[in-house]
Amino acid sequence: MEPERSTIWPYDARGEPGDFYYARYGHPTGAAAEARLGVLEGGDALLYPSGMGAETAVLLALARPGTLVALAAGAYYGTSVLMRELAPWGLRFVEYDQTGTPPPADLVWVEAPANPMLTQPDWEAVRAHRGLVVCDATLSTPVYLRALDQGADVVLHSASKYLCGHHDALLGATVTREPELTDRLRNMRGRSGITASPDSAAALLRGLDTLTERLHRITATATELAARLGADPAVDGVRYPGIGGVISFDVADPRAVETRTRIFLNATSLGGVRSTIESRHRWEGDRIPHGLVRLSVGLEAVDALWSDLEQALA
Ligand code: PLP
Repeated sequence: MEPERSTIWPYDARGEPGDFYYARYGHPTGAAAEARLGVLEGGDALLYPSGMGAETAVLLALARPGTLVALAAGAYYGTSVLMRELAPWGLRFVEYDQTGTPPPADLVWVEAPANPMLTQPDWEAVRAHRGLVVCDATLSTPVYLRALDQGADVVLHSASKYLCGHHDALLGATVTREPELTDRLRNMRGRSGITASPDSAAALLRGLDTLTERLHRITATATELAARLGADPAVDGVRYPGIGGVISFDVADPRAVETRTRIFLNATSLGGVRSTIESRHRWEGDRIPHGLVRLSVGLEAVDALWSDLEQALA
């Protein structure tokens, strides 16, 4: 779909606004992409200019001064950084091991699976919790997880990753089933201006055309690479949740490994057609193992990717 870039649409003959009147509140390309993502997740989708934009809108709309968040430890680093940034507004958070029971909190924030520790939430424990549940499902995508069916109140995506899938668009999304939650998020988005562009929404429409096929191929390749890494004497521990393209493992000298690959691009981010490799210590410090290397497997041939890793690890 060619993005519709107008920011204004005329009122009708009676002077009443139609579905679209000013692009900060909504535009046709965004609405088309939201409708398709909503079907995949089984709820009402809303788009934001990035995954972090989606996180900001969720916290502004749903938290209040004094709100305590139980956040999955080992989840995307930027989420804890944002929550710390919001401390002057009275937001508090505690990190907990999401494979167990969340502590008492107003809001539980899980990540399925966590990036880069690749743990999965204990859904039974999450469902038994009294707080609102936000699930960052970026690494699963709706191909492998419909988090609303598991008990999440809000599903969140960095659509910059698998959903758009080509490392050429920044985009975020939420999906909710409860109309009151959707309204609060939509109002906060429009009023604060955390609105996605039509071009990014068009990138999502393109990405969704191939999402299932990309994820199936990526998972098959990543499963094979995780097995081969597990048998390599230079590799200490391999984390792979069995779905998607993110693998993390530990080596003695992560900088040496990441700078020797030729097919795996030594760059941050994940979820695109091109494979990437990165030592995460440079960003996350001691909250993760010093030697942790994160791979994002793309669409290249499995044997070529393995040869690249083998020579980098030798
Ligand atoms: N959630 C997860 C799991 C991520 O990996 C990222 C980015 O790496 C984000 C959220 C933030 O998304 P964005 O970079 O689109 O703002």
